[in-house]
Amino acid sequence: MEMYSSHINKLIEEFASLPGIGAKSAQRLAFHIINMPKERVEAFANTLVTAKENIRYCKRCFTLTDEEYCPICRSDKRDAGVIMVIENTRDLAAYEKTGKYEGLYHVLHGAISPLQGIGPNDIRLKELIQRLAAEDVNEVIIATNSSLEGETTAMYISKLIKPTGIRVSRIASGVPVGGDLEYIDEVTLLRALEGRIEL
Ligand code: ZN
Repeated sequence: MEMYSSHINKLIEEFASLPGIGAKSAQRLAFHIINMPKERVEAFANTLVTAKENIRYCKRCFTLTDEEYCPICRSDKRDAGVIMVIENTRDLAAYEKTGKYEGLYHVLHGAISPLQGIGPNDIRLKELIQRLAAEDVNEVIIATNSSLEGETTAMYISKLIKPTGIRVSRIASGVPVGGDLEYIDEVTLLRALEGRIEL
């Protein structure tokens, strides 16, 4: 027997489909929305749609932004000679929180995973190689996760870049295996960055 009306069920299902939201949280959120004033719900829904319509990839580093180039790529205070390669925009946010990294980024939007059928062409790797050919880069710091996929990606990238003569380094392990970079505290991230090893 169905406990709730189909509209409520649908709402609960939508929330439950989001990452990190279990069945209980999904119910709590659904009932919270139902109890909100209609104007608040409309404003919330609009924010979702507007964000989706306006957020795009930075033309240079492929992080999510709402302009052609993100604020980091546009800044003249950043060292354009250093590019840190990361898996996603959340990793970028984690490094930015340390406030100590002064180079630019390149966001791959994923990692190579033969098991999941994700190959080099499915992430923003070609764009990285194009950048390296067009820009004056001294060092590429590979900061993909220490998961199997992250390590595979790091190895693949280092093999691609080495022949160009650009320095390639890998952040120090010390970042927990399989751990998402965004959950790691700033001190650990900084230590991993400072202790990076030349490949
Ligand atoms: Zn950018």
